[in-house]
Amino acid sequence: MILKSWISSANDPESDFPIQNLPYGVFRQNGESCIGVAIGDRILNLRGCVECGLLADLPEAILSSCRAEALNVLMSLGPAAWPALRSRVASLLGEQVESRERGCAEPLLVPMSDVTMQLPARIGDYTDFYASIHHATRVGKLFRPDNPLLPNYKYVPIGYHGRSSSIVVSGTEIRRPCGQTKPQGTEPHFGPSQSLDYELEMGIFIGSGNALGQSIPIAEAEKHIFGLCLVNDWSARDIQSWEYQPLGPFLAKSFATTISPWVVPLEALAPFRVPAYERPASDPAPLPYLNHPDSDRAGIDLMLEVHLESGQMRQAGVAPMLLSQGNLRNLFWTLAQLVTHHASNGCNLQPGDLLATGTISGPEAGSEGCLLEKRNNTEPIRLPNGELRTFLQDSDRVRFRAYCWKPGWPRIGFGECTGTIVSTSFNG
Ligand code: CA
Repeated sequence: MILKSWISSANDPESDFPIQNLPYGVFRQNGESCIGVAIGDRILNLRGCVECGLLADLPEAILSSCRAEALNVLMSLGPAAWPALRSRVASLLGEQVESRERGCAEPLLVPMSDVTMQLPARIGDYTDFYASIHHATRVGKLFRPDNPLLPNYKYVPIGYHGRSSSIVVSGTEIRRPCGQTKPQGTEPHFGPSQSLDYELEMGIFIGSGNALGQSIPIAEAEKHIFGLCLVNDWSARDIQSWEYQPLGPFLAKSFATTISPWVVPLEALAPFRVPAYERPASDPAPLPYLNHPDSDRAGIDLMLEVHLESGQMRQAGVAPMLLSQGNLRNLFWTLAQLVTHHASNGCNLQPGDLLATGTISGPEAGSEGCLLEKRNNTEPIRLPNGELRTFLQDSDRVRFRAYCWKPGWPRIGFGECTGTIVSTSFNG
């Protein structure tokens, strides 16, 4: 039987946050930052729960982590601690709750519409991968039509170190970056990017890390994952194409990265596990340190969507346009392989580090995870009101959604990852 909550909005089939989800986030209210759990259209204030004794049967380390202003301490406690808190919260919010506990919890439920969300953790380091073979192939084709995939792709999970200081929470405006570009046949110049793009990605929040000099065996990798969120790795393609050789992306990516505010625990995604990407027989097998003991459930069936709304559409009340749809199961590398590879040289991952998958694209048209890939089509995108787009214009609003769903099971959603482009600050 599917468990239900006494909070009716959590039982709405359209809700991202049924009692089977219970993602963690940090909200700000009355000048305070508090850790909360999303349930329907409400947030359960965990600090409040500690203060009124609702979590009294849990160890002190968990109580103390719930009183913090970011999730890092809870993340650091590791998978031995997380299920106890999760199951306690589920029992408080489930319809079988004792009436005394329900009476204590009710005043600790905050309407989402009354608060602003913050970054869920202090993100020490941010790493971005390139785990979608369909993305790598489409982008590669733009530059090397006959040989789109580089020879290392099927051996090495390709990644680079990103910038954590400019990671912002969903809803934060994105200022068009300035930078050096060199349009074909001209001299380099400095000015606002003319090729601003989004990248549809999932983020992995690291829970307990690994010591410097130690690695993380693939069989242990998921125990180091606290949960997942949506990531928009905004990219200035004109800056990128001029600066990226030989060391890779730099200022084309570091001006902003948007994440969704809710971190969905892997446990909530357990019913949606699927086999890892099936490599054709002609492909090399992963090297042993990347070889999954449980590859039949190393993937996640998770739908992802990109919606675009221009400033004109917003003014005219035109609904956002669904630009593309993809699925996390299309990734060539699994989440565990990304974690294990990252730590394989002894690099220490730390609680609150963010690893992003790289643009998630599928094989078919309509599943491109960024606008750059759509350039393989000849026509610009036509918006419902007739405007055309090759890249993002000022006032454009990009919104990502993601959810797991299957018959007979509530939808496990990720909320929104949204950003609106505002004009550059460059004035000369
Ligand atoms: Ca990226």
